[in-house]
Amino acid sequence: MKTFEELGVAANIRKAIEEMGYENPMPVQEEVIPYLLGDTSDVIALAQTGTGKTAAFGLPVLQKVNVKENVPQALILCPTRELCLQIAGDLADYSKYIDNLRVLPVYGGSSIESQIKSLKRGVQIIVATPGRLIDLINRKTVDLKSVKNVVLDEADEMLNMGFTESIDEILSKVPEGRSMLLFSATMPKEIAKITKKYMQNPKEITIGRKNEGSSNVKHVYYMVHAKDKYLALKRIADFYPNIYGIIFCRTRRETQEIADKLIQDGYNADSLHGDLSQAQRDYVMQKFRIRNIQLLVATDVAARGLDVDDLTHVINYGLPDDIESYTHRSGRTGRAGKTGTSISIVHVKEKGKIREIEKIINKKFEQGTIPSGEAICEKQLLNLVDRIEKVKVNEDEISKLLPSVYRKLDWLEKEDIIKRVMALEFNRLIDYYRDAQEIESPSDRYTREEKSYPRRKDREYSDRSSGGSRGAERGYSRLFINIGRTDHVNPATLMGLVNDFVPEKVNIGRIDIMQNFSFFEVPEKDAQKVIKGMSKQEQNGRRISVEVAQGGGGDRGNTGASRYGGRVGKKEYSDSRPERGSRRNSDYKSSKPSDKGHRKGGRKPKYS
Ligand code: AMP
Repeated sequence: MKTFEELGVAANIRKAIEEMGYENPMPVQEEVIPYLLGDTSDVIALAQTGTGKTAAFGLPVLQKVNVKENVPQALILCPTRELCLQIAGDLADYSKYIDNLRVLPVYGGSSIESQIKSLKRGVQIIVATPGRLIDLINRKTVDLKSVKNVVLDEADEMLNMGFTESIDEILSKVPEGRSMLLFSATMPKEIAKITKKYMQNPKEITIGRKNEGSSNVKHVYYMVHAKDKYLALKRIADFYPNIYGIIFCRTRRETQEIADKLIQDGYNADSLHGDLSQAQRDYVMQKFRIRNIQLLVATDVAARGLDVDDLTHVINYGLPDDIESYTHRSGRTGRAGKTGTSISIVHVKEKGKIREIEKIINKKFEQGTIPSGEAICEKQLLNLVDRIEKVKVNEDEISKLLPSVYRKLDWLEKEDIIKRVMALEFNRLIDYYRDAQEIESPSDRYTREEKSYPRRKDREYSDRSSGGSRGAERGYSRLFINIGRTDHVNPATLMGLVNDFVPEKVNIGRIDIMQNFSFFEVPEKDAQKVIKGMSKQEQNGRRISVEVAQGGGGDRGNTGASRYGGRVGKKEYSDSRPERGSRRNSDYKSSKPSDKGHRKGGRKPKYS
C-alpha cells in the first residue's frame, strides 16, 4: 500500500487530512489520485459511496487549482443539495492549509442571490447540482470557460433523477480540453452513453467488481404475506435493539404512513421524503446524523444526499421498482470498513426480483426467519443487561441518593431486585409478544419458534377471556375497571384491591384481565358498594374507575379490538390511553441528542 505522499499528494493537503485521521489512502484513492495528478485526462471510476471517493477526486482537484487565478477551474456536479454541501465541506477541510482557495456550493432551495454574490467575488471550485447551475448559467452569472477539471459524482443517480439534458447543456459550456472524472456506483447503459460522448479513451477503474455491492454488506430477505409486512418490520427492529438504519419505502405516502405507525408504536423514528419542506428535511437529517433518531423512514430520492457512515442496517420495505436502486440502498451500510446488513421484507411475488438483484450484486441473499417473540424478548433483555454493565456511573452524584434507596430496598434480595428491574422494563414487551400472532411465512421452510410464549388461547385464563361478549353469572354483576395488564394487574392484585378498598368482604367471581382494562364479577347486592368503594382510589398513581359493564363485556380474543380500543357490548371501552412511563413522540422531539448509545434510557415500545 502506498502512502499519500507516495501518491503525490502535496504536503499542505497531507497535513490537513492527517488531522482528519486519514492515515493511509483507501483503495479508491490509491487508484484514482495518481491518474488525476498525472496526465491521463479522463477517468471512469466505479465505486460505491462510502469508499472514500470524495478525497479520491477532491485531493487532486484541490492540488491542481491555481489560487492566484480567481476564476472557476474545477466543476463538481452531484445529484443532491446534501451531497453538494457535503463535498464542499470536505473540500474546505482538505484545503485548510491552502490560502486563498475558495469553494462554492451551488444548489437549489437556497438563496440564489447570495450564490451570485459569492460567484462575483470569485471562486476556484464550484460544487453544484445541475438544476441550479443551469439557472446561474442562464443568468450569465457563472462562466465555465476556465474550467479544466470536471467531476461527475454519483453519475448514475444524476441520470436517475432526470438530469441527462442538464448535464449535456452544462458540459457544452465547458472547454473541450478539460479532463473529466466520472464516479458511479453502477454502470447502466446510459452512463456508457455519456462516457462515449464526453470522454476520450477514459481510464476505467473499478473498485470491487463491476456492479457489485459492498463486500461488507450481508443481504437478507424475509418472505412474508403482504399484510404482515409492518409486523415483520417491528419484529426486526425489536430484534436489533441497537439498530441505526434507514427504512426505504417506495412512495412518499407509504414513507409517511410507516413512520407514523412506528412513532405511534413508540419507536424512535421519523420520516424523510419530498413532501416535507427543505427545512424539515434538514432538521430530520440532522437529528438522524446525531443519532437522535434511530430509524429513518425514507424514499430513495430524499435519502440520496444523506451521508452517514455507520448505519447498522438498511431495510427495504419492499424492493425498489428499479432494481439498480437496490445497490444504492444497500451501499448505505457496510461503509468505511464497517459491516452492515441490508434487509428486504418481501412478499411472494417479489421473489423473482431477489434473483435478479443477486445477479446484479453478484452475491446470494440469505433467507431470514422472522424472529420469534421469545427470541426478541431474550435479545432485548440481554441488551438491557449489557447496558447495565456498561453504563457510566457518576459516583459523586449518585452516592448522595443511594443510602435512602438501599434502605427502601433492604427487604429485597439481589435476585428480586434484578427480577423487578427486568419486569419494569419488559412486562409490556413480554405481554405484547405473548399475545402476538406468529407471522406466517409463505415459505414452507418457516418453523415456529414461539414455544415458551404460548398464544393467548392456551393461557391460564383463556377459557374466561376468549370468545365474544358475555353476560355475568346468575346473581352476579359484571363490572368494568379501567386498569389491566399494562398496570401490572393480575387476578390476585385485583382481588387485593377489592379487599383493600371495599370495607366489607366481597365474593369475587369471574375475572377477565385485558391489556388496559379488566372485568370482574361480584354478587349483585355488592355491586354498588364495590363501585363506590373502589372508584377514585388509586393504583400506581392512576385513578381507578369502576362501573357496571354494559352488555356483559368480555375480551374478544386477541383482536385489535382488545388492544386498540374495542367495542365491548354497546359501550366503547377505549383501550388506547397513553401509557404511563412510555415516551410520547413529542418527548423524542424535545430530547437532547444522545451519544453513541442511542436509545439511551431505553426505548419503550408502546405495546398496547
Ligand atoms: P466518501 O466515500 O468520500 O463519502 O468517504 C467515506 C468516509 O471515509 C468519510 O467519512 C471519509 O471522511 C472517510 N475517509 C475517506 N478517506 C479516508 C482515509 N484515507 N482514511 C480514513 N478515512 C477516510
